[in-house]
Amino acid sequence: MAHKAFLIGRSLALRLVDCGSCNACESELAMLFGPDFDAQRFGIEMVPSPRHADGLIVTGPGTSQMTDALARTAEAVGAPRVVVALGDCAISGHVHRDGYAAKCGVAASLEADLQIPGCPPAPGEILGALRRLMRKGATGQGLAASD
Ligand code: SF4
Repeated sequence: MAHKAFLIGRSLALRLVDCGSCNACESELAMLFGPDFDAQRFGIEMVPSPRHADGLIVTGPGTSQMTDALARTAEAVGAPRVVVALGDCAISGHVHRDGYAAKCGVAASLEADLQIPGCPPAPGEILGALRRLMRKGATGQGLAASD
């Protein structure tokens, strides 16, 4: 995954894709952009269009209704791209795993460069994981390892 390193040397623009989450992961993610954590000072931002993104941050267990939308959004970002699986649902499907309406998380559709576990992960944990990912990218260490 070292070929992705140039993407995130100093900034990381992510497009959120909700694939059936309960929205608690999004609530914690939103805290990053308030005065307590202020993730933008580290170059991290959420962008409304996949065309403006370095990659995706995906929540939820991967509902069947979102399969095509996730694939099309990833295609719109282009390659190479960073994929972050946020929360236990996105990592494995969690309690929804292999249910009638969901798969086993984002891994069923995309290879995640970073997994951030938790249900939901706390804002500090999300910010720390994204910053470690950025440091790995900046030093050319590759992005494959999960923290
Ligand atoms: S990991 Fe937990 S908080 Fe996040 S979407 Fe799944 S159930 Fe909700």
